[in-house]
Amino acid sequence: MILDCAVIGGGPAGLNAALVLGRSRRKTILFDDNKPRNTVTSESHGFITRDGINPQELKRIAQEELSSYPDVRTEKQRVHRINKENRLFKVETENGKVYSAKKIILATGFQEVLPDIPLVKDFYGKSLFNCPFCDGWELRDRPLAVVADDHKAFHLAKLVSNWTNDLIIFTNGKEVISPEEQELLKSKGICINEKKIATFIGEEGMLERIQFEDGTSVFREGGFITTEWIQAASFKSSLEYTLNEQGGIETDSWQRTETEGVFACGDTRIAGPSQLIIAAAEGCMAAMSVNGALTEEKFN
Ligand SMILES: Cc1cc2nc3c(=O)[nH]c(=O)nc-3n(C[C@H](O)[C@H](O)[C@H](O)COP(=O)(O)OP(=O)(O)OC[C@H]3O[C@@H](n4cnc5c(N)ncnc54)[C@H](O)[C@@H]3O)c2cc1C
Repeated sequence: MILDCAVIGGGPAGLNAALVLGRSRRKTILFDDNKPRNTVTSESHGFITRDGINPQELKRIAQEELSSYPDVRTEKQRVHRINKENRLFKVETENGKVYSAKKIILATGFQEVLPDIPLVKDFYGKSLFNCPFCDGWELRDRPLAVVADDHKAFHLAKLVSNWTNDLIIFTNGKEVISPEEQELLKSKGICINEKKIATFIGEEGMLERIQFEDGTSVFREGGFITTEWIQAASFKSSLEYTLNEQGGIETDSWQRTETEGVFACGDTRIAGPSQLIIAAAEGCMAAMSVNGALTEEKFN
């Protein structure tokens, strides 16, 4: 059978794309190996009607909703190759099955690379987070840290200062804040600590102290840390698309990539704020775009 669309990735972007395709009576397969970047956290915030939901529960509800649409099927498989042959895409999964689809939606998200600081993984997603819009409210008014060893330190600290008046930036041994920026931060009561971090100290992921290589430590109850973002899946070898400066897949406002018939949505575009609701909205847009393209092909 030739599918109308193969959606790769079953996070909010891919799930919403599959929902809109199913409702449009498009034969769709959603491939997902269920390794989203927010696995580390137990609560997601900022999605109206779903504020505070467990991310896996959000996926469960989405799958339940998809089960009402007979044209949508989910395969819990990782896709490892996609090739374009004439006008059709051949989608190959890790278990060796090959599916043919007229259109592809990439909704594969990205993975985060945490800074190389001992025990950072134990705290990430519990009391250290990446995005103040996601978790700032829960950490409000506490003694917080911004841990960042690059130019993002200044910007992130300015943002986080909206949630607390007790903020210290930890640059982990780097000098990344200019004298002018330091003056500005100090004038707002934000301190800077440039010592090399040895480790994080606390119980069950809840931060209590940041320990430095010189043996001293500072009391902090949580904070925000910058991470590197890399594509969770790369089909660059078999599909042509351009990556933006941050490593995200370039699309136009209709989620179309450079390759005709390939669309991208959600975090995989690494093109702005990374949020569940934005990913879901882009998934909706990608599905409408696919539907529009298939409709045009039918009449032309
Ligand atoms: C600690 C943390 C806390 C966060 N908190 C919030 C919050 O409170 N509110 C909020 O709005 N956002 C939050 N986010 C951001 C949010 O998780 C992302 O913006 C959102 O998950 C992006 O959705 P997505 O569908 O694009 O990608 P993802 O949710 O990452 O889903 C991508 C899916 O594609 C699958 N996949 C990848 N490659 C393949 C392949 N080759 N084959 C098959 N499947 C594949 C992955 O396994 C994954 O299931 C948080 C992120 C982190 C890290």
